[in-house]
Amino acid sequence: MKVFQVKTSARSAAVDITDEVQRAISDMKLSKGLCFVYVPHTTAGITINEGADPHVMEDILNTLDSLIPWRGNYKHTEGNAAAHIKTSLMGNGVHVFVEQGRLVLGTWQRIFLCEFDGPRTRKVHVHCVSMSS
Ligand code: ZN
Repeated sequence: MKVFQVKTSARSAAVDITDEVQRAISDMKLSKGLCFVYVPHTTAGITINEGADPHVMEDILNTLDSLIPWRGNYKHTEGNAAAHIKTSLMGNGVHVFVEQGRLVLGTWQRIFLCEFDGPRTRKVHVHCVSMSS
């Protein structure tokens, strides 16, 4: 397993971590397999979506802000209930296949760490299982 850190710069942010995940896979010398990319946090999630147009992730973050406002009638007293809810909607991990040492992603797909209670330093775990066929 590889772990790397990501520094976020705003309360809400989508950080493209595809290159770091690919580097972790290259470091592990994985040729063919399945990787799980996991974020061990309760106020940051992970997703795969379009990276070519940065407006896509901006739209997703803005829509989440509209659906789940920072201030609301929440029972969680820490003040960041919205971040917890958004994280559960995004999820804490994604699976990606690896072929010939490369992430199998669609033309427009990138892997994003989704910060919902930043700025902070976040950890990303990359754990892979080798497959022969
Ligand atoms: Zn909290």
